[in-house]
Amino acid sequence: MRTTISDLSEAALRGDWGPLIRESEKARGKHWAEDARCAGRDTNIFFPRGDGPQSEPVETVERLGASLAGPLNLCAACPLTTAARCLIESLRDDEEFGIRGGLIASERSALRSGWQRRADKVAVARALRGSTAALSRAERNEVIARFATDPAMDAAAVARGLGITHEYLLKLARTYRQKRRTELAALSARRTHAA
Ligand code: SF4
Repeated sequence: MRTTISDLSEAALRGDWGPLIRESEKARGKHWAEDARCAGRDTNIFFPRGDGPQSEPVETVERLGASLAGPLNLCAACPLTTAARCLIESLRDDEEFGIRGGLIASERSALRSGWQRRADKVAVARALRGSTAALSRAERNEVIARFATDPAMDAAAVARGLGITHEYLLKLARTYRQKRRTELAALSARRTHAA
């Protein structure tokens, strides 16, 4: 039976993100959207009024009814790899509104929460080795923290893993170290005060 984007999103909702991420990684590079069925279309149809992260998905689909048919049919015809990358990009950018990967905003809400809670050690390790990975916010922060506190890490590889420039990585690491110093100083002051 043919795998669909719904199969991949349902597995992700159950906590199994592997199939969705692996499928999205087949659409490499900056030009992944060239095969998208929505390419060149009016993007307004992907932002139906009355759908948002707080809406109830089943009620929203029933209420919006036929107005969803156009964009959802396009998404259903989108190549699986492209739809998976589209969905992962929306999660990575924490996009609250709009239809992505065949899911309306209210349907993506639970996936967005699950994505932000992900803390996959394998994904972090891959990014540190320079393999560009789809990282949740928690995983991305972990990569930056590990890089900022380990001078032996290969900056070029980590920058590649995060998909950012070398300079920007160094800036993020400096910000992380500054924040940690401030936190530790505050902790030390509280302990002194309590003693
Ligand atoms: S899945 Fe994404 S890229 Fe494909 S048609 Fe839908 S919105 Fe466009």
